Amino acid sequence: MRPIGVFGGTFDPIHYGHLRTAFEMLQALRFDEVLFTPCGDPPHRGTTFASGAERLRMVEVAIAGQHGFTADDRELKRDGPSYTIDTLLTLRAEFPDRALGLILGMDAFLGLPTWHRWQEILDTAHIIVAHRPGWKAPDLGPLGELITEYGTHRVNDLHATLQGRVHIHAVTQLEISSTEIRDLVAAGRDPRFLMPDAVRDEIEATGCYA
Ligand code: ATP
Repeated sequence: MRPIGVFGGTFDPIHYGHLRTAFEMLQALRFDEVLFTPCGDPPHRGTTFASGAERLRMVEVAIAGQHGFTADDRELKRDGPSYTIDTLLTLRAEFPDRALGLILGMDAFLGLPTWHRWQEILDTAHIIVAHRPGWKAPDLGPLGELITEYGTHRVNDLHATLQGRVHIHAVTQLEISSTEIRDLVAAGRDPRFLMPDAVRDEIEATGCYA
């Protein structure tokens, strides 16, 4: 049974940077599927701009028809801050025999030591880090130690154990951010070609970033 990728984020909105990263991971790491888990109440960033239902809907229309991509609303259904460790523990309970791979951009990985119970994440899942433009993997500090101790370049290692490895994987670098898209839309400009047209249509229909 191949691993399940878990790709969390605010997805406010989802864009091609997210989608291309998830797609390259799905293929290169031979994952069975990638779950997109929009967070309900992001612990690090205050409120979101679009509602949880709107962000979930944008994820759903973005991934529609892509085999192996699934929208997962467990964080939106949970009360309180959306801690990744809680999400991984529920997935571990649901899939006791499957490897789990938490997918993070390099910027998110660099913030990992500030996350709630971050040291328990590797007891539950692998950590897969996508190289993002302009970010360098740490070689010092707690994350440098994590990479030294648990890092692997071998994709097979992610299949051989259920959790506990750190894998850094280069993906096609698309310098797109949700912040930039929200700013564009708020300024009355067209975000076309930064995201699937279906997501752009949702943004237009809901007026969530106007
Ligand atoms: P914002 O601009 O609102 O901070 P964002 O574009 O960074 O949003 P998030 O939803 O916060 O998007 O990111 C979810 C995950 O996707 C994080 O792990 C982040 O590192 C990663 N990510 C975001 N943008 C890209 C991109 N262009 N390429 C690869 N990974 C990305």
